[in-house]
Order: sequence, then C-alpha cells, then structure tokens
Amino acid sequence: MPFTLPALPFPANALVPAIDAATMEIHHGKHHKAYVDNANKALEGTPWADMDPVEVIKSLKDLPDEKRGAVRNNAGGHVNHSMFWSILAAPGTGGTPSGPLAEAINASFGSLDAMNEKFAAAAMGRFGSGWAWLCVKNGKLEICSTANQDNPLMGESVAGCGGTPILGLDVWEHAYYLNYQNRRADYVASFWTVVNWAKVQENFAKAK
Ligand code: MN
Repeated sequence: MPFTLPALPFPANALVPAIDAATMEIHHGKHHKAYVDNANKALEGTPWADMDPVEVIKSLKDLPDEKRGAVRNNAGGHVNHSMFWSILAAPGTGGTPSGPLAEAINASFGSLDAMNEKFAAAAMGRFGSGWAWLCVKNGKLEICSTANQDNPLMGESVAGCGGTPILGLDVWEHAYYLNYQNRRADYVASFWTVVNWAKVQENFAKAK
C-alpha cells in the first residue's frame, strides 16, 4: 500500500488565530501531499513501499544509495506532518499537561514554562528550515531541533539528535509565512495555544 495523505483532524480554519486557514490548506493539501507523492514515487516497486512510513525513516541506512536522499526528505516530511496535524487542536480545546506527562515535564525542565522557553529556543535557533521536537529519550524528556524533514527517529547520526518525538513544531517558512512573515517568534509563541495535550500524553505513554 502506498502512503496516503491523512485528512486533517479539524477544519482548516479551526486553529485561527494561531494558524490561518489558507496556510493550513496549502500546508496540508500541497506541501504534505507533495511529500506523500514523492515518497511513493521513490519507493515504488521496492520492499519499502509496503512498510509503515515510521519504520521506513528508522531504516534509511538499508535503502539503496540512490533512493536514500529522496526518502529521507519525503518519507520524513510525511511522518513529520502526519504527527504535526495530530498534536494540534482548536484554541481552548487542547487542555494542559497532566499526570505522568506533567510529572516528567517538571522532572526534566523544572516547569511547563521552562520547557516552553527551551522549546522556543530550539525552534528559533534552527537556521533555515526544520523542526523543533519534544522527545522521550532513555525514559526522560528532551528538546532538540532537526534540519529540513529530518526526524529524531532517523537516529542521531542522521538527524543530529535521537529519541522518540511526542510533539513537533514545523518551523519551515511555509508553515507560518502568510500570517507571520518573518516573525517566527510570534508563530512559535502561538503554537502553545493550539497544542492537543491529550494526544501528546498518548504519545508520551507509548514512547516510554
Ligand atoms: Mn511543513
């Protein structure tokens, strides 16, 4: 089965004012779709075409050299965006971290505010295109950022950091430029108003 573009779990205008409807429509319908199409094109007729995309990006080293770059970028883009939509929710509906996730945030960072600050620094410090991540690594929470469509699941030697992401933020300009232009900091700050913490908690429980 080739990869398929998942439907957005909410209407394109659900995240206003944090993320505008036009950005969501283009980001999902054009950018994410292109990653899906290009990953399928690269993997067509190979044993990787039938694999779970997460398993594909975990095993880039097994791919033929001539496929690896396209798969890293496009299967990476597919996995990253699929997660991104899933951890977003309309403002005021995403709740707050609680239970074991809240405890882990406090244990790793001291407080939710301190975690947000460190995450924002990772998102702002990524020069050019990439992602900021909250990961589970060795049972603890860590923050890092990756370039382009790399994902910590690709492994530290590929992505520059490892772990299992439970929340990610797209800091490519295509994710915010229509609404925020060069104001990435405002986009990053607005992200916290649309995080689906129930989903992040679910990801945390699975990753541990
Ligand atoms: Mn994107």
